[in-house]
Amino acid sequence: MKLSTQLLIDGQFVTGDGPAEPILNPATGELIASVPEASFEQVNRAVNGAQRAFAQWSRTTPAQRSTLLLRLADAIERHAEEFAALESLNCGKPYLAVLNDELPAVVDCFRFFAGAARCLQGPLAGEYIEGHTSMIRRDPIGVVGSIAPWNYPLMMAAWKMAPVLAAGNTVVLKPSEQTPLTALRLAELASELFPRGVINIVCGRGESVGAPLVEHPLVRMVSLTGDIATGQKILQSAARTMKRTHLELGGKAPVIIFDDADLEAVVAGIRTFGFYNAGQDCTAACRIYAQGKIYDKFVAAMTDAVASIKVGGPREEGVEMGPLISDRQRNRVASFVERAQSSGHVEVTAGGKIRPGNGFFFEPTLIAHARQEDEIVRREVFGPVVSVTRFSDAEQVVQWANDSDYGLASSVWTRDLGLASKVASHLQYGCSWINTHFMLTSEMPHGGMKMSGYGKDLSLYALEDYTVPRHIMVKL
Ligand code: NAD
Repeated sequence: MKLSTQLLIDGQFVTGDGPAEPILNPATGELIASVPEASFEQVNRAVNGAQRAFAQWSRTTPAQRSTLLLRLADAIERHAEEFAALESLNCGKPYLAVLNDELPAVVDCFRFFAGAARCLQGPLAGEYIEGHTSMIRRDPIGVVGSIAPWNYPLMMAAWKMAPVLAAGNTVVLKPSEQTPLTALRLAELASELFPRGVINIVCGRGESVGAPLVEHPLVRMVSLTGDIATGQKILQSAARTMKRTHLELGGKAPVIIFDDADLEAVVAGIRTFGFYNAGQDCTAACRIYAQGKIYDKFVAAMTDAVASIKVGGPREEGVEMGPLISDRQRNRVASFVERAQSSGHVEVTAGGKIRPGNGFFFEPTLIAHARQEDEIVRREVFGPVVSVTRFSDAEQVVQWANDSDYGLASSVWTRDLGLASKVASHLQYGCSWINTHFMLTSEMPHGGMKMSGYGKDLSLYALEDYTVPRHIMVKL
């Protein structure tokens, strides 16, 4: 497999001038490649190139931008197997899951924004002051610095590039230092289609490459998907040059299961939505609240279901869950489970341990009898660990679900759709699913409330986020 390790800066493929970052295969712990990171000067060149390109790119028609986005979508689709192989190698994800779940979503994201670029709407032009005609424009913002996490590297690149470019901005994307490989391959395909400087990809760590990108005075907007602490640093830095920010931070999704829920469907749902991508997902169904009468049946059935999840390397037959991204992340997950166990009142009914041998594997884990005040209920683990807490009535569970710093995703499971709708309307989360979880679609917004951040990915709302409404007034 061909590995691209060069950065895309102002239309040129160049080797990073900074220190080399080792890229590991999480399923074996072995070195895949070394990617030299961008130097301060290279970040500067990328931003300047994006700024120069903005002058022309921002004046292209929506139809012209749409055509290129559609061509990029087609190119990704043609190389889907190669992308899936790279992504599963770099992240340890099951190959077929990347190929069948993530790649179609990536392609669809580019196609959706290609169409959406041509469909923005707004208020009517008219005479709101006598003798003056007012009209609204929605214009691009300028150079957008986009900073992505490691959990879905190519999909995050798509979410961060497609609406930005569709709106007529130019972009400097920094993938996670741990997972740059698919973004670098994407850069090669994109460079054949887009004008010089419109898309730039710089790799490296947050402090050495992300921070100078955020601080650069020509970057007009910063978009981050990452940790709350990183979002806070970016906000502080962005304040100095008054940049717009778009922050998609973590989550700790509450899952509310009422007594009358379809037990089989709930168990199948949590088995998938709690453990997909080894739980390294900001919407993971990880904080279960089960009502008194269904609680024991649910814990018993869920324990068996969790124990049946097939863990292994990306190409193993029937594999459902891969390793965590790094040894560090695995140790972090293990220490959450240890601390939960030390409380004395929880019971680890499935998993709970590091899997011996090579690779950064952790067993799919279910923790029963957790309490609202427990760390395992309150903090994001970002691993294959699901907690279960018993509740008595709707009022109590809504209060517990909302009693969280996070506000990204949630779900309600019951056969009573009236109850489900009422509870969903009281939840302070960017998304509430009813009798499902985790389902995203390009047409619908994804984004948080509270400390999960603000700004929407996907949907027309994302396109609006990356544009600015402007008022033009003509004196007649
Ligand atoms: P992270 O915050 O450590 O890193 C995210 C990105 O920010 C990386 O590219 C990193 O290099 C960069 N970065 C770090 N410090 C920086 C700084 N000071 N300045 C500029 N850039 C900096 O997060 P991660 O560990 O890669 O990803 C996991 C986190 O992301 C989890 O908390 C998860 O919930 C969150 N996440 C959220 C969503 C969402 O849609 N809300 C989606 C995926 C992941």
